[in-house]
Amino acid sequence: MKIFIFSFFLWSTLAASPLQLIKKGLPDANATLLVIGGIHGNEPGGYFAASILATHYKILSNALWIVPNLNQQSIQANKRGIHGDMNRKFAHISPKDPDYPYVEAIKQTILAPEVSLILNLHDGHGFYRKKNEGSIFNPKAWGQTCVIDQCHLNAHNKFADLDAIANSVKENINKKLIKKHHSFNVKNTNTKFDDEEMQNSLTYFAITHKKPALAIETSKNLRTLEEKVFYQLIAIEEFMRITGIKFKRDFPINLPSIRQLLHNHGKLRINDNIIINLSNIKKTLSFIPIKSEDNTFLFTHPLGSVRVTKSKTTLVFIGNKLVTTLKPQFFKDAKECPREFNVYENKHRKTYPAASEFFVKDDFKIEKQNGIRVNIIGYSSKFKNESGVVVKRSDLQKRYAIDRNNSTYRVEFYKDGRFCSMSLVHFEKGKKDNE
Ligand SMILES: [Zn+2]
Repeated sequence: MKIFIFSFFLWSTLAASPLQLIKKGLPDANATLLVIGGIHGNEPGGYFAASILATHYKILSNALWIVPNLNQQSIQANKRGIHGDMNRKFAHISPKDPDYPYVEAIKQTILAPEVSLILNLHDGHGFYRKKNEGSIFNPKAWGQTCVIDQCHLNAHNKFADLDAIANSVKENINKKLIKKHHSFNVKNTNTKFDDEEMQNSLTYFAITHKKPALAIETSKNLRTLEEKVFYQLIAIEEFMRITGIKFKRDFPINLPSIRQLLHNHGKLRINDNIIINLSNIKKTLSFIPIKSEDNTFLFTHPLGSVRVTKSKTTLVFIGNKLVTTLKPQFFKDAKECPREFNVYENKHRKTYPAASEFFVKDDFKIEKQNGIRVNIIGYSSKFKNESGVVVKRSDLQKRYAIDRNNSTYRVEFYKDGRFCSMSLVHFEKGKKDNE
């Protein structure tokens, strides 16, 4: 099956690079921490933590650079690497390798003069112990470790003492454990002498180019994603402290609030004329009015991506999670569509831009516009044009709501048989379920 993969992110800036590189903090910083998520597509603790770091942290001093989804195609597939292990391609890679542009781009980012310290995020199996304590607690395990390739960087550098950094991170994480057996350890792979395979890794590439780099591995055996993300974030915060980065986050660091953040999938904008709120969305939406090709997809979530199948169904992913499937109904875009529309709720009239979301309590009416046909999906009426009609929540068939609470419906605008735009009406019960 031939598939097409797209990934766009509203706030990414480097148009020429295949990487999504998010830069936060001050441009004249003394130190910059580079955090890399998603080199392995089946290690969601790392990339969901990097994504929360990108969207819920404000950097008040120094700078933080984030690549949340280095291996996006493998993340979508939830596989370690669909073209082999990307973390074994940093010593040698063929220009024909599909991973080549990503490996080259992250190498350039690592070598950027601004970057002072590099942190690569993983989820590893088991719980690392120096002595064998059972099948998942042993020296071969990788989980719950701060990994270094050697104790010292062979260069004059503020962050050259990798062993001291790893030990200080470990000690501070161990003050915040959810369960005692989640304790962290330092794992020194002694790469130069003992680990030929790891000589091909990202961190070894960095340290052999005089750039201090470490990895964090939370355990794949932790029971929930929020536990993995919890430890990743605690570790990242320790690294920020070491780099001298002051920050503010907009949530308390505990499991319930991390769980809530993980459920927030943000919004998807298609072709700049369709808005879809992805939080709490139903598994399948039908008759989505898009073009037969050349559609653009923009996500507010750094891990948002789509895959268009051969049958032209669009699968929408956040990280490795398939959040919804969009079944299309092909339309050509209309010309000279109105840029805004008016909504009456009782006697109150409000104006909204095309392809936006609005909130009502009990009922609403879309004001008539010349030549524009309105179709409110789930409203069965005898009218061909559903503008100028008062629509109550009880008039709408729940199976057409886009969300699982059956509170959000599509309002579509057409002109001369062509598609203009889709907005969303939310019926609220006192609160706004906006983000
Ligand atoms: Zn990994």
